[in-house]
Amino acid sequence: MSSHHETSENVVIKQADFIESVADALQYISYYHPKDFVDAMSEAYEREQSAAAKDAIAQILINSRMSAEGKRPLCQDTGIVTTFVKIGMGVKWDKTDMTVQQMVDEGVRRAYTNPDNPLRASIVADPAGSRKNTKDNTPSVVHIDMVPGNHVEVAIAAKGGGSENKAKMVMLNPSDDIAAWVEKTLPTMGAGWCPPGMLGIGIGGTAEKAAVLAKEALMESVDIHELMARGAETSEEKLRLDIFERANNLGIGAQGLGGLTTVLDVKIKSAPTHAASKPVVMIPNCAATRHVHFHLDGTGPADLAPPSLSDWPEITREVGSDVRRVNLDTVTQADIEQWKSGETILLSGKMLTGRDAAHKRIQSLIESGEGLPDGVDFTGKFIYYVGPVDPVGNEVVGPAGPTTATRMDKFTDLMLDKTGLMGMIGKAERGPATVESIKKHKAVYLMAVGGAAYLVSKAIKKSRVVAFADLGMEAIYEFDVEDMPVTVAVDSNGVNAHETGPAIWKVNIANAKA
Ligand code: SF4
Repeated sequence: MSSHHETSENVVIKQADFIESVADALQYISYYHPKDFVDAMSEAYEREQSAAAKDAIAQILINSRMSAEGKRPLCQDTGIVTTFVKIGMGVKWDKTDMTVQQMVDEGVRRAYTNPDNPLRASIVADPAGSRKNTKDNTPSVVHIDMVPGNHVEVAIAAKGGGSENKAKMVMLNPSDDIAAWVEKTLPTMGAGWCPPGMLGIGIGGTAEKAAVLAKEALMESVDIHELMARGAETSEEKLRLDIFERANNLGIGAQGLGGLTTVLDVKIKSAPTHAASKPVVMIPNCAATRHVHFHLDGTGPADLAPPSLSDWPEITREVGSDVRRVNLDTVTQADIEQWKSGETILLSGKMLTGRDAAHKRIQSLIESGEGLPDGVDFTGKFIYYVGPVDPVGNEVVGPAGPTTATRMDKFTDLMLDKTGLMGMIGKAERGPATVESIKKHKAVYLMAVGGAAYLVSKAIKKSRVVAFADLGMEAIYEFDVEDMPVTVAVDSNGVNAHETGPAIWKVNIANAKA
């Protein structure tokens, strides 16, 4: 404990210091991955043998370094702010007109509207109804604990929606095996959580307690290799190793393309529970794992030291000379039918964007017979599922990585049937009905690397809003791209890399261990 004020009676925490620290922390984590995470990802890169997964990890690491250098978000989804605040019982605040929630939210507001590095506002209010964007990413989720002492400890994270959406909860029987449940459940979570990442597992307490424990577990550093080296001592440590091994044996791999590393660490937090119960919650954290901790002792705002660029590995991606380069302005149906699942392609030319809200509106315009607005013509075009960050300075667009394509499955048959759309670009797997529809329409689904948003944005040379400007980041844009790297995930014959990749690597891993 660095607690020179521990015994002092008069520690006063200034409201302004708290707010400033929250704002600084959120800016910091928008572009700096934690060092332990970069180290673990680099180690995964070194040992990866699956070419597709290795390239995805390379993009994640290059993106990470570029973000640190450029001080721009790691991912276009800059997250929902989740904060654990531990307040010493002896803490006095200089002002009492704001609650802790309000102070955190003020920090969030300042961080997300910072003109030097504006972050994407992703929070919508009235979640069961109008889902209107609150414009400043508030409110955040705040957990408050009163603890002994007279300091304030804060752990703060910006949690991506793609990974949060894959959280799972189960009330197991007391004798059920938790590792077996994880092994069974992880494949059902697909790739929308942008692996490789971490699993936070909360065990015990009550249903809601287990969920909070799982989230808090994700605030810890990656250190599973240290645990492996010294050996498990407690039942929880044994469970961490068991889950880690079983999860990686599944062969899901980076971005679900099949490979050696699916999880970088498994974190567990537990609490005593009812004799009849064994609540378990699993929350994954993604390629954009973002969290930082700070401590206030009354001497001023937290001082977060920037990392050194030497913390990042020097990685260059080589695109083979045989890689297919595609001009989207002239591409034909015959061309796309040549593309094979698993193949890497570099895209140039014009594409349209659209995600949840735009699809919903397109669907109602088509169904009402009104038709699409002027300038929106998908004939022979590709759609990119993305909600970019606003640009700053001379940027064309802010970080603009793919969003989870699976959410657009319910609109895809309509899009392919009625709009002349040729193909789609997103991240993660498509459902069976959508793969069927892609095959039927001889279309293709390409994937970009989720979490490599700043890197992807550098391939975008022009951007303009085409329609639905009122939807903000969910509007339809036209992007003009140059050499944007994508992988064919579902080809025109319906061959699905998210199925074939993990199946092959599961067997490869089992054979290597036999
Ligand atoms: S890395 Fe993937 S899951 Fe995480 S915030 Fe970015 S897009 Fe979402």
